[in-house]
Amino acid sequence: MNIFEKIESNVRSYCRNYPVVFDKAKGEILYAKTGESYIDFLAGAGALNYGHNHDYMKGKMIDYITSDKIMHGLDLYTSAKEDFISAFHEKILSPRQLNYKIQFSGPTGANAVEAALKLARKFKKRTGIFALMGSFHGMTLGSLSISSNKSNRAGAGLDLDGVTFIPFNHGPFGNMDTIKYMEYILNDTHSGIEKPAAMIIETVQAEGGVNVADIEWLRKLRKLCDEHDILLICDDIQVGCLRTGSFFSFERADIIPDIVVLSKSISGYGLPMSLVLIRPELDIWKPGEHNGTFRGNQLAFIAAKAALEIIEEEKLEEEVKRKEYFIKQFLEREIKPIDSSIDIRGIGMIWGIDLSGLKNNNITSGVIKDCFEHGLIIESAGRNDHVIKILPPLTIGIENLNEGCNILKQSLLKA
Ligand code: PLP
Repeated sequence: MNIFEKIESNVRSYCRNYPVVFDKAKGEILYAKTGESYIDFLAGAGALNYGHNHDYMKGKMIDYITSDKIMHGLDLYTSAKEDFISAFHEKILSPRQLNYKIQFSGPTGANAVEAALKLARKFKKRTGIFALMGSFHGMTLGSLSISSNKSNRAGAGLDLDGVTFIPFNHGPFGNMDTIKYMEYILNDTHSGIEKPAAMIIETVQAEGGVNVADIEWLRKLRKLCDEHDILLICDDIQVGCLRTGSFFSFERADIIPDIVVLSKSISGYGLPMSLVLIRPELDIWKPGEHNGTFRGNQLAFIAAKAALEIIEEEKLEEEVKRKEYFIKQFLEREIKPIDSSIDIRGIGMIWGIDLSGLKNNNITSGVIKDCFEHGLIIESAGRNDHVIKILPPLTIGIENLNEGCNILKQSLLKA
């Protein structure tokens, strides 16, 4: 028994299938202590869009750390924060004419989700939330209460007072029109469902099985929220930062949420940072009404600014389009013919291979294990055991992308 099995709590998940100790990483490759290398199709669950140890980010951080700059700043005005906010405003918000204020809510994605929920409830003076079936927003009590997976919630004693789960897109029930359904419950005073303060969505449900919302549906949702005075919150924690092909995932639908939450690859490099973008009129919290010690990780600011520069320098938007095409073609030509009941779906550089239609659909963990044995790290989509999720760094080289896809194909063929 190794030290992890002996001492570390069993709640860990990713390392179960990987019986090695990882030591180094560069770009899209992870190296075990014993020297084996692995292509990374997990990318820190979306936190490593620019790969491991990107040289440009590393250089900027080394410069910072070796010059006695401030390392912990709480909410102080610091030069690192100033540089990040300026770059974010100049490169991301201004060109899109997005008039948001930035709140730093805490180090993790769940922190940002909690802040968004609290703020929406205060602003609208209502407590209800509409969330989507298949959603995942985090593991704290608030974020968990709006995440639909029962087994994640089990044992936490969460009552679902005030949370109404709405079918995603057209829903799992054939052609049910979920917009009409929402209109119906919003207009029906006898439904027992209170009008919510906000509706929270992911435009692509990553942990929920890689479900991509239709553009028209997203537009209707925006309209519905406007008509019923409901704030629209977009959780772009996993699929923001260019994952779907545009910096924000909602850009493809040409909608503007009232609140956006970002984390993971906003800093990249595995550094903790999250932020909440809010329409200016939502800036109603008094100083100190929402705070926390680790809201201002200075190195994360440095990495985050460098990431914005990398996006431009390396023309990542074009890169994502090129690699989206490659992955899509590969899945259609090489994976789908393995069995016509395999469903493939995705956008940009997040793709899911849904094996639930197979006669023997209990093969995911075996496939993941076999991939690992052949040098590929890949995972299922959250607790969605039937969907294998392809989520490489956006900067992955096309050769390794091809190699990883081929390992996956061979493992599926054997299963
Ligand atoms: N929201 C989404 C869409 C996520 O994918 C995640 C994490 O996977 C979270 C929220 C929670 O972020 P964190 O794990 O940093 O709390």
